[in-house]
Amino acid sequence: MPTAIEVFKFLPKKNCGKCNYPTCLAFAMQIANSKAKLEDCPFISEEAKRQFAASSAPPIRLIKFGSGKGVVQMGDETELYRHEKKFFHPTAYSLAISDSLNENEVDARIDKASRMTVERVGQILKLDSITVKNDSCDAERFAKAAERVTSRHEGAIMLISKDADAMRAAAAKIASRVPLLHAADQSNFTAMAQVAKEFNCPLVVRDERGLNELADLVSKVRTTGVEDIALDFGASDAKTLLERASIVRKVSVKRLFRGLGYPIVVMAGRGEHAVLMCMTATMKYGSLVVFDELEDFQAMPLFVLRQNIYTDPQVPIQVKPGIYPVNNPSEKAPILFTTNFSLTYFTVLADIEKSRVPAWLLVVDSEGLSVMTAFAAGKLTPEGVGKAIETSGAKQRSTRGELIIPGMVTRMSGKLQETTGLKVIVGPKESSGLPKFLKSLP
Ligand code: SF4
Repeated sequence: MPTAIEVFKFLPKKNCGKCNYPTCLAFAMQIANSKAKLEDCPFISEEAKRQFAASSAPPIRLIKFGSGKGVVQMGDETELYRHEKKFFHPTAYSLAISDSLNENEVDARIDKASRMTVERVGQILKLDSITVKNDSCDAERFAKAAERVTSRHEGAIMLISKDADAMRAAAAKIASRVPLLHAADQSNFTAMAQVAKEFNCPLVVRDERGLNELADLVSKVRTTGVEDIALDFGASDAKTLLERASIVRKVSVKRLFRGLGYPIVVMAGRGEHAVLMCMTATMKYGSLVVFDELEDFQAMPLFVLRQNIYTDPQVPIQVKPGIYPVNNPSEKAPILFTTNFSLTYFTVLADIEKSRVPAWLLVVDSEGLSVMTAFAAGKLTPEGVGKAIETSGAKQRSTRGELIIPGMVTRMSGKLQETTGLKVIVGPKESSGLPKFLKSLP
């Protein structure tokens, strides 16, 4: 979004107040903060609206591929550094499958990609896409491989071929899944752009010679009418990738040059080199990383890295409020409560599991704050806990008539007992004391 001064340039400067703000500058400030729309001024010309839309378009264009549950969104980023606001679309990871493999081998690769998943602090970390490569140089074989992968995998699909005819054959078979097409280069861009337009698919533009050459090629592709574009620098090492990705992001976000404002696709290859390329791309502006090979022990640290880079620094990771059974509890099991800050929840959950004592864990909405922080900020109150008990149906789950509270909020015990009608028992101050505490309960 442009600054208030940039918005101001588009306004008529009548200071008439018809937009419900006293001056044009006050109105511009509201637009810059996304609290008003340009159309609220009745004097804006169509030309000014058009120019404003062009100037306020995201510096990195949003590109989507895939369909249904398997859509990958790339780009639409606005920041150079995450702490300035947030990064919006996590780097997607894709595993390549060669069309030279036989059907059993293709199926085995799909299964391998599907198994590559792990749950961490309440989020599912997994591969996002499968890429089908036209290694056979056979259009029919390529189309069949694309069709088979699509029929057995819900994720987004990317197609790689240098041959526009082979690309057309494969894209035609799976057009409803909106594959990402890789790639238009100097030798084939007219034909590849034609395929992208024919099937309404986004197109990767590749030039490994340098950013000037890539910008020229992007410009040529755009003249064919293709706007949904992603970039491949053809970087074969992490240094080149880092340099080019940083330049592209910087000139785009600072609006110094709009011709490369597109998501970045990285062909990582295999082995330790691929891990390094993926780390670089995940930390520095890559939108999609394609692996020729990827093993579980390589994927898991990359998933965690990605999760950390793309966590919103202003929003704590949260779990859904409610009541959760731990160690197969009956109605005789006690209720404990904690807050919905993920790290707090998973620490408490692990300690209850360690005790092997059946229990009900009530998660109270504290806007993602930990117990002490939420209590100090007034986000964890006896009334809030009482409401959580009612809405979660906790009293129906446990008829024991007791509520175990964290030792750090002893001060709320009297009011809490009064609010809930439950006998309040003060638990340990630290979650690590829960196993011993729970085992000592009568
Ligand atoms: Fe300015 Fe338009 Fe608002 Fe009048 S209605 S104060 S001209 S922005």
